[in-house]
Amino acid sequence: MARAINAEVKEGRGSPHGGVFLDVSTRMPAEVIKRRLPSMYHQFKELADVDITAEAMEVGPTCHYVMGGIAVESDTAAARGVPGLYAAGEVAGGMHGSNRLGGNSLSDLLVFGRRAGWHAAEYAAGLAGARPVVDDSLIDSAAAEALRPFSAEAEIEEPAGGPPENPYTLHQELQQTMNDLVGIIRRETEMKQALEKLAELRVRARRAGVEGHRQFNPGWHLALDLRNMLLVSECVARAALERTESRGGHTREDHPSMDRKWRPVNLLCALTDPTGGLAATDPVRGQITLTRETTEPVRADLLALFDKEELVKYLAEEELYE
Ligand SMILES: Cc1cc2nc3c(=O)[nH]c(=O)nc-3n(C[C@H](O)[C@H](O)[C@H](O)COP(=O)(O)OP(=O)(O)OC[C@H]3O[C@@H](n4cnc5c(N)ncnc54)[C@H](O)[C@@H]3O)c2cc1C
Repeated sequence: MARAINAEVKEGRGSPHGGVFLDVSTRMPAEVIKRRLPSMYHQFKELADVDITAEAMEVGPTCHYVMGGIAVESDTAAARGVPGLYAAGEVAGGMHGSNRLGGNSLSDLLVFGRRAGWHAAEYAAGLAGARPVVDDSLIDSAAAEALRPFSAEAEIEEPAGGPPENPYTLHQELQQTMNDLVGIIRRETEMKQALEKLAELRVRARRAGVEGHRQFNPGWHLALDLRNMLLVSECVARAALERTESRGGHTREDHPSMDRKWRPVNLLCALTDPTGGLAATDPVRGQITLTRETTEPVRADLLALFDKEELVKYLAEEELYE
């Protein structure tokens, strides 16, 4: 349905706000709508003054889940390469394969949240007083970097210098770019365009400036978040461009079928420092590199559970089939 809506909007047949109209009022009597869709009826009435028992509602697809994240060991939820960091839930990658099916993130949180907590506690206890020491100079440079938006005007080191940028404007442009060019249906030309725009936004984000002080300052928080948002967006765009097939939630118009050779391949992004000087973790100057990793085949006993006919029958009976 999301793909169909996307196609209509891109063909210029969208609704005024870039979605489509969904009309249940001509399909069901008013009392059935109120009984079967009580919260939808209530929300549209209260928030948009739209009576869905009498008129159409404007709808559109939105981001539902990020099918990627920190690479972790599945048994311990330990992040690879960063001792002491544990990740579970939507921030962790590799759990749901190419798509997250309805309801599965709840069980993900229960199982892997427990594992992450358990192993993080075990790791901390195992240090037995010998905690890793933090280098003060790293703290100082992180603090200076965090406070930079307050002195954006004085930022002169970038060759592409200019006036301070409003973080909200940058955020909006980033959202629009990712929505339009790396969205539901992906095309090579559009993703390349997106990567150019992301590079430009990254330069401009160095000049993200804020006013006021450190106490509750959402503009500053956004300026800090922007660095990570830009990195994640670039990872998504690079990986989507690299993966020349369609699978799960990733649809390439120029490669519409699944390709067996991609099946066991995961794409890993890392922040590296091309100059060799800076720490490879600098989110502003570091470069993203993409590598392919071959996944282990699914164990035979697990694969046996996937008798397709049985599975579809079971899911349909449980009303879980999407
Ligand atoms: C519209 C929609 C519908 C969905 N429906 C379903 C469904 O029906 N069933 C299902 O199983 N899943 C569903 N999901 C997915 C599911 O809700 C999420 O995957 C899940 O809630 C993720 O949980 P989490 O704890 O990993 O992350 P989150 O719930 O995102 O929690 C992360 C927390 O970290 C906090 N945080 C962020 N940055 C910082 C920071 N710097 N310092 C301190 N705290 C910070 C955030 O405020 C947040 O509270 C849906 C998602 C969406 C968007």
